[in-house]
Amino acid sequence: MPESIDVAVPVADRGELTRRLRSLFGFRKFRPGQERVVQAALEGRDTLVVMPTGSGKSLCFQLPALELPGATIVVSPLIALMKDQTEALQARGFEAIAINSTLSSADRAAAEDRLRNDFHGFIYTTPEQLASAEFRSLLRGCLIDLFVVDEAHCVSQWGHDFRPEFLTLGSVIEDLGNPTVLALTATATASVIEDVLKQLRIPDAGVVHTGFYRDNLHLLACETNGEEDKVERIASLLIANPGPGIIYAATVKSVKEISERLAEKGLVVTSYHGRMRKAEREENQDLFMSGKIPIMVATNAFGMGIDKPDVRFVIHAHPPATIEAFYQEFGRAGRDGEAARCVLMHHGDDWKLHNFFQAGRYPSGEDLVNAHHALKRFDAEPPTFEQLTSLSPLPRTKLKTAMNFFRSQGIVKEDLAGKLHLLRADMDLDSLTRLARHYEEKDEVDRMNQQRVVEYAAMRSCRWSALLDYFGDEEFAAACGRCDNCHGHAA
Ligand code: ADP
Ligand code: MG
Repeated sequence: MPESIDVAVPVADRGELTRRLRSLFGFRKFRPGQERVVQAALEGRDTLVVMPTGSGKSLCFQLPALELPGATIVVSPLIALMKDQTEALQARGFEAIAINSTLSSADRAAAEDRLRNDFHGFIYTTPEQLASAEFRSLLRGCLIDLFVVDEAHCVSQWGHDFRPEFLTLGSVIEDLGNPTVLALTATATASVIEDVLKQLRIPDAGVVHTGFYRDNLHLLACETNGEEDKVERIASLLIANPGPGIIYAATVKSVKEISERLAEKGLVVTSYHGRMRKAEREENQDLFMSGKIPIMVATNAFGMGIDKPDVRFVIHAHPPATIEAFYQEFGRAGRDGEAARCVLMHHGDDWKLHNFFQAGRYPSGEDLVNAHHALKRFDAEPPTFEQLTSLSPLPRTKLKTAMNFFRSQGIVKEDLAGKLHLLRADMDLDSLTRLARHYEEKDEVDRMNQQRVVEYAAMRSCRWSALLDYFGDEEFAAACGRCDNCHGHAA
């Protein structure tokens, strides 16, 4: 892992920056790590920031952006998050616009007009937008002096939320004349950190890493006797602790089941998953955020960028796929610094469930070649998935996996009518086989990641020590006194 940087901030500047923090944001003092990052950005040094969820990463780029003369680009994976952030900035009186695929053509034209007219504010956008040469040339006219990649673990295949679109950012940064880069994430192991620096082409960036320990989070794990027992235990937890709280479940089906069973017990909950209609999803999120319904049952589609400070517990009804995802999800508890509980529930079948997913997740080289071949036969008119199935010797599920894979790699694009366009008809046997092999390796990594969660669930020693060890944090006492395993043993 690259060395952490330690910036000596001159005393005079120090007072000045704190004054700016107060006058611009109304915060009394910097939180750990923030001042170092702000200073580094102001001095034009590329920096990767690793700070726990809720610790105030946004401020690390917002303050220098306001101090620097030019405009700042902020790349973010979630369009919903963009809207919240630009509105929050506008409410403080700062210039901020969001440019993404949801803009109407009139709004887009208005936004582009602003960019043409001496714009110095925040430009929130997506990698897809930045892929357009026209858009980039417009941006070059804005004197971009800071390029921010929020949720930067999305750049890395080894991270838990890889977005292939993020891989283009390295060349975008070069094309924009190498502005100072600030990449921010809450979860990064050494391999993810290295990969992010490599993909963004900032090998010499400093790393500011504030550590992962959150002393207000009490960690517990419990082995249950199946789903029904889980619901019973969740119900008693809810009765003892009215929330606000989040219950994460592994699948849409289990979100529905758990919500229904809790409702039958007279407990009022709301829910959230990716297959819900957008309007319903937003309504439920509002119910939870406003505190009208303090309990949210959700898949992991819920929560990235959610800033609700008073979450008193996060329950995982099923084990997540990686320790990183787990940390990120339970880290939504206790952002206000008050005590909160993070409970992992598991039983034997949960691990089987994961293995089942795992088995069908990545296609073999042969499957890819077959699927690619089938697509090529529709050169005149792109097929729907159904049409493709009727023509391909592959079983439906394998074909589906192959298409998902092609889509994630930009080899196939699905249009709104569900037609599958082959964008890379040029790929030959060799390149497809190589691609499949690459993903076999990834599959192996996924299994190892899952094994770490298994070990965490079963362990008998301090949970915080194990997590911090996993993330490479040093200098931590052997017993936290804040997990089920060492509670009562520590001072
Ligand atoms: P992250 O992106 O690290 O998860 P955010 O940037 O969303 O966290 O910040 C979390 C919360 O902390 C926000 O409500 C923000 O206003 C608040 N915050 C950030 N920095 C400070 C500070 N120096 N003092 C007080 N509150 C802060
Ligand atoms: Mg954030």
